[in-house]
Amino acid sequence: MNVVYLDNNATTRIADEARDAMLPFLSDLYGNPSSMHTFGGQVHRRIEIAREQIAALVNAEPEEIIFTSCGTESDNTALMSALLSMPGKRHIITTRVEHPAVLNFCKAVGRRGYRVTYLSVDKLGRLNTDELMEAVDDDTAVVSIMYANNESGVIFPMEEIAGITRSRGVPFHTDAVQTAGKIPVDVKKLYCDMMTLSGHKMHAAKGVAALYVKRGARFSPYIIGGHQERGRRGGTENVASIIGFGKAAELAKEHVQSGDGLMKSLRDRLQQELIDACPGAIVNGDPINRIPNTLNISFEYVEGEAILLRLNEYNICASSGSACTSGSLEPSHVLRSMGVPYTAIHGSVRFSLSRYTTKDEIDFVLEKMPPIIRELRELSPYGRETKEME
Ligand SMILES: *Cc1c(COP(=O)(O)O)cnc(C)c1O
Repeated sequence: MNVVYLDNNATTRIADEARDAMLPFLSDLYGNPSSMHTFGGQVHRRIEIAREQIAALVNAEPEEIIFTSCGTESDNTALMSALLSMPGKRHIITTRVEHPAVLNFCKAVGRRGYRVTYLSVDKLGRLNTDELMEAVDDDTAVVSIMYANNESGVIFPMEEIAGITRSRGVPFHTDAVQTAGKIPVDVKKLYCDMMTLSGHKMHAAKGVAALYVKRGARFSPYIIGGHQERGRRGGTENVASIIGFGKAAELAKEHVQSGDGLMKSLRDRLQQELIDACPGAIVNGDPINRIPNTLNISFEYVEGEAILLRLNEYNICASSGSACTSGSLEPSHVLRSMGVPYTAIHGSVRFSLSRYTTKDEIDFVLEKMPPIIRELRELSPYGRETKEME
């Protein structure tokens, strides 16, 4: 089946090189990295190479990288560690537009007596750092703000945020799942204390992720068990996936450093030609400060779901902001927080490209989309209104 996959913020294909690196560990090299014998020891050494590869992607030290089972676990671990490390402090600061891995964790502890400040964003999805400055107080245990948003693609001003948290002596965690491998990420420049990465968002397997914890930072493990990960995360390692993740990180670093602008230029062309061909199309999110693979675009008075179903007939994969991936019918909390009008939220589609996206694929989408939008508008009770716009 020839799939045009433009849903890379949901998950990505495994890079061939990453899969090939994994294979020996799914067959002959099945030793336990914690074992004394050479058979297990060689696996341990490969895990340490993967740790170096992940560290190199974000300019961290290898011992600052903890492997976990998913981005969600890394986010939960970071927040829980901050709360456990500072039991006297009972205030968390985050944003309204975080991934559920952070947002729902905060809501859960909010119900157990913690105070949570949810920072707002403006119409372009940008954070107001003055609000952060005002929100930090002596009771603040942690600030958790994502690096780039998975729906809008908007990049938050990390260095400015880190400047504030650092001057106030509050630990800063950032969810960089959508950023690593797309733009240069440097923990030493950012000065964050913790950072979440996830394998399957950057061409590694599902079920493997990492948490960067700055050297010397206080840390309390979330998964308590054996001495794996220097006692910071118990459980026998997901060996093959970790090794594939290391390879994927190496490839991602090469991609980011190569300065290859194809993905961004394809995204920009998709955006411009959709705007030109579909009257009433509006881009959601800061057009400048945005990760180079993401286009969130609304077609007013058309159902995003309907667009996806029509695209699906051509095996074009994208996602919409009207019903989230969980299958709930709640409109996207991100677009709502941005104040995107109801009619536009319901007509929103997110295209997310990868470095594997080709010009032919974008041409194909550009050929199919305008007639889809036209036909759906004809069916819409507001169709006439929008025809007048044409
Ligand atoms: C996908 C995603 C996560 C969750 O990662 P999993 O590995 O799927 O648990 C967290 N944050 C952001 C921004 C994401 O896009």
